[in-house]
Parts: sequence; structure tokens; C-alpha cells
Amino acid sequence: MSFQQLNLIDPILKALQTEGYTTPTPIQAQSIPIILQKKDLLGCAQTGTGKTAAFSIPTLQLLYQQRQQHREQKTIKALILTPTRELAIQIGDSLAAYGKHTGLKHLVIFGGVSQNPQTDALKKGVDILVATPGRLLDLMNQRFVHLDHIQMLILDEADRMLDMGFVHDVKKIIAKVPAKRQTLFFSATMPKEIQQLADSILNKPERVEV
Ligand code: AMP
Repeated sequence: MSFQQLNLIDPILKALQTEGYTTPTPIQAQSIPIILQKKDLLGCAQTGTGKTAAFSIPTLQLLYQQRQQHREQKTIKALILTPTRELAIQIGDSLAAYGKHTGLKHLVIFGGVSQNPQTDALKKGVDILVATPGRLLDLMNQRFVHLDHIQMLILDEADRMLDMGFVHDVKKIIAKVPAKRQTLFFSATMPKEIQQLADSILNKPERVEV
């Protein structure tokens, strides 16, 4: 299996080559085709399996292809929720690496730092927003973030978001995202609470386990 066989577009293949990636990991080989078909996904995968690339690469590809067809709008089209600042930064770095030839803009926001650089960047317009739940909700309440054009919603490390007490914040955020969307849900473990949350936000998901 190669990345070419996953029908990835040249701007992304070129970036993966630069990264030195030759072969998709199992979670990537299974998830990328499902996501490119615009289906919902429930992914059971730990950190270290390559799950960040498994959702970042097809998200970049879908938004890139869409931008080829429509005029560019300065609205947030994909939202990636993740529990910690470290993970948010890592996802941002991945989007920068895999997306460097796509021209798509992303922004990473998290709490514990001044919000001004984040709100300034939001005003300029971003395609993909990576956020921890608390800061995102804060900025939504101050009307700096509007989620009404979101087409793709990605929950990363959902079990950790619950463990860290973000469940109410996450639910409040999801309530503001259009129902007509593609949702990707990743969790290392699938206890009952997580399965229930997944059931309530996913639409006929394909299940992938590694
Ligand atoms: P993750 O599980 O998303 O935290 O990724 C774990 C590490 O694997 C990261 O450092 C990635 O850069 C790396 N990685 C992800 N996919 C691949 C791949 N297909 N080939 C080589 N390295 C990869």
C-alpha cells in the first residue's frame, strides 16, 4: 500500500514525500478512503499510530478540492477539537507540513495565553481551526468565532476530553455546528460514555480499529 493508491492529490503527495513518509500506517490506510468518501468515522486508535495524519490529510484534500470548485470564502470549514495545548500544537504542525502546498490556512487556539493574537488571526480568516474546548467556547461567547460554515467536525482523543471534564463544553460547541456535516471521532478507548457521545453526534459511521 502506498499513499498514491489512496488517491491523494499531488500537493499532498509532494508534502508527504518531503516528510519522508512512504507507507500509510494501518489507521491511515483504513481511514483515509472512508473520509474521502465524506462518510462519518469512529476511530479507535492510540497516539503513535499516525491518527493525526489519518484525519489531517483527507481533511486538507477535501477542502482543497472544494476550493478548486468554489470561490474562496473566509470562513472556518473544519473544526478539530482536542483536549490539550500540546496536542493542538502538534495537530497544527501536521496541518502545516501536509498542507504546505495547498494554500489552506489553519489556526491553533488554546487557553492560558493572551487571546489577542488568536482573535487577530481569526479576523484574517482561517479554513481549519484547531482548538481546545475551553478557549474555543470563550471566543465563541465573545463572537470572535462563528461555526455556521463548518462542514467537517473532528474530535481527537475524545476519551481524554471527557476525563478532563470538557464534556459540557464539547456538547455546547457541537450544538453550534451545522447538523449537515461530516464528523470524525477518535478515541483511544471506547467506554460506554464515549460510545454514547459518539452515537449522539455521528451519522452512520464506519468503524475503524487499530
Ligand atoms: P500520531 O499518532 O498522529 O501522534 O503520529 C505519530 C508519529 O508518526 C508522528 O511523529 C508522525 O509524524 C509519524 N507518522 C505518521 N504517519 C506516518 C507515516 N505514514 N510514515 C511515517 N511516519 C508517520
